[in-house]
Amino acid sequence: MQAKLIERVEVAPGLGSFIFEAQNGAGGFDFTPGQFVSFTAEIAGKRITRAYTIASPPEPHRVALCRFELCLNLAPDGLFSHLLFGMQSGEMVEMRPPLGTFVLRQPPRDSLFIATGTGIAPFRSMLRAHLNADSPQFTLLYGARYESHLMYRAEFEDLAARFPRFRFWPTLSRPEAGWTGRTGHVQQHLEEALDGRRDLDVYLCGLKLMVDDVRARLKTGGFDRKQIFYEKYD
Ligand SMILES: Cc1cc2nc3c(=O)[nH]c(=O)nc-3n(C[C@H](O)[C@H](O)[C@H](O)COP(=O)(O)OP(=O)(O)OC[C@H]3O[C@@H](n4cnc5c(N)ncnc54)[C@H](O)[C@@H]3O)c2cc1C
Repeated sequence: MQAKLIERVEVAPGLGSFIFEAQNGAGGFDFTPGQFVSFTAEIAGKRITRAYTIASPPEPHRVALCRFELCLNLAPDGLFSHLLFGMQSGEMVEMRPPLGTFVLRQPPRDSLFIATGTGIAPFRSMLRAHLNADSPQFTLLYGARYESHLMYRAEFEDLAARFPRFRFWPTLSRPEAGWTGRTGHVQQHLEEALDGRRDLDVYLCGLKLMVDDVRARLKTGGFDRKQIFYEKYD
């Protein structure tokens, strides 16, 4: 299957939201929030495949444009991310359909979502698809370097205002003057986000360094591994 780039919006240098359309005939494009697509291309004579988590919720069937959104960052010296950032609207990339088990457990329980960088993608899809007035308590602890790197901030703030059981906690590791919110890495806010509770499910997504560190802290703090779900990007 091919995916056509429809539009890209640069959020900050080397960070963007990309809308693709699966060229799937009448086949539709089904996935569960949290799943990823796999892109393949030949780069320097080698076929290279990379996974990218879908950041948008599934489309309602009556719409069925087969469009989906990705949050992408340009990895330093990264082969595939350079190819993606070089794409123009209308260009195609080879894609395999959505896969993956990093999805919300059913029925969902009170949960803490922890994301760094583009690790926000699965949580944006899950929250857009599942958050409603009857949802359990969800807290999103979201770490980025700079304020401009907080993707979907206005959307999450709006959800937090509409649904009191959803808490949105961004934290910046390199805050500029004027930022009055949380600072530092997500790990520094873990205990406060857990509120002393040990009955939460915790979902982690981002680079290995954060995921491994938070998993170790949770295990030391008495969490069972069945309560911890994670996706590592590297
Ligand atoms: C299940 C899954 C879902 C993923 N979803 C996303 C997503 O939604 N958005 C996204 O941007 N990436 C995502 N990734 C990472 C993505 O697959 C690639 O690893 C990333 O684009 C770098 O590939 P590359 O070929 O450009 O870099 P490579 O040539 O493979 O690596 C170059 C360097 O970049 C480092 N690196 C790898 N991944 C990253 C990263 N994400 N950020 C910074 N440095 C990195 C590597 O350690 C290496 O040092 C996901 C990975 C997995 C396994």
